[in-house]
Amino acid sequence: MTVALIVAAGSGERLGAGVPKALVQLGGRPMLAWSIDALLATGGIERIVVAMPPGGYDDAAGAAGAAAFGRAAASGFAPDARVTFVDGGASRSGSVRRALEAARRLVETGEHAPSEARSADDLVLVHDAARPLLTPALAEDVIAALACDPQADAAIAALPVTDTVKRVDSEGAVRETLERSELWAVQTPQVFRRAALERALDVHPDELARATDDAWLIEREGGKVIVVRASEENLKVTAPLDLRVAELLLAGRASQDGHRKSR
Ligand code: C5P
Repeated sequence: MTVALIVAAGSGERLGAGVPKALVQLGGRPMLAWSIDALLATGGIERIVVAMPPGGYDDAAGAAGAAAFGRAAASGFAPDARVTFVDGGASRSGSVRRALEAARRLVETGEHAPSEARSADDLVLVHDAARPLLTPALAEDVIAALACDPQADAAIAALPVTDTVKRVDSEGAVRETLERSELWAVQTPQVFRRAALERALDVHPDELARATDDAWLIEREGGKVIVVRASEENLKVTAPLDLRVAELLLAGRASQDGHRKSR
C-alpha cells in the first residue's frame, strides 16, 4: 500500500497573506486543495494524511485551531474519506514524522480500508503543499521508479540545475564554483520505503530541523536515493511572484482541458 503525506504546516510568512501558506487562494481554491486532488487521482494511493499548522489557525468566523484549518482546506475539494488532517511539527521533517505516526495509528486502530495492511513493501510518498502543480503522472513516475529498484530506499523528483552554482561565504566572496553537470535541484514528491523512512525520522528534533528534505536523512545513513526527472512546472510557491506564475500555469491547464472536452 502507498500512503501519501502532505506537509502543509508552514506559515508562509514570505507570501504575507495572513493565513497559512497552504490556505492561500490559488485559482479560486486553497493551495493545498490542488495537491490533494492530484494525489487522490494518483494510482495506488490509499490514504492521504495532511500535516497542518499545530492548532495555530483562526478562520474568518473566529473558529480556532485544527478544525478551522480542516474546514478551510476542505472548502477546496470534494469530501473524501481517504483524507485525514493532523497537527504538524516544529520543523518540516517533524511534520512528516507526525503525519507518518498518524497514518500508522489509523491502520493500527482499524480506521482504514480493508486493503490497508502494513507490510514490508509499503511505500510512503511525501509532498509539500507548497508545490500545488503536482500531477498524478509525476507522482506515479516517482512511485514506479522506487518500485523498479529493489536496492533503493527512496526515489525523489528532481531537475538538473541550469544555473551555475557557486559557494559564497558570509562576506559575499565566492569560494567555489560547483560542477554543474552533477547538480540536481530537488523537489517533492519523494517516495520512501516505509521502514527506511521510519528509521531515518527516529532522530532528535534538532536533526529533523536541519533537514531541508527527508531524503537527506536517508542519504547520511548510507541509504540509496535515486532521482526521477521532474517537471519545471512543479514549482515551489515561496514568494508572491511564484503565486502569479502558478496561477498562469493552472489557467493554462484549465483552458487545455476545456479544449480537449469541447473536441
Ligand atoms: O519552509 P519550506 O518552504 O521548506 O516548507 C516546505 C513545506 O513544508 C511546505 O509545504 C510547508 O507547509 C511544510 N512545513 C511543515 N511544517 C513545518 C514547516 C514547513 O509542514 N514546521
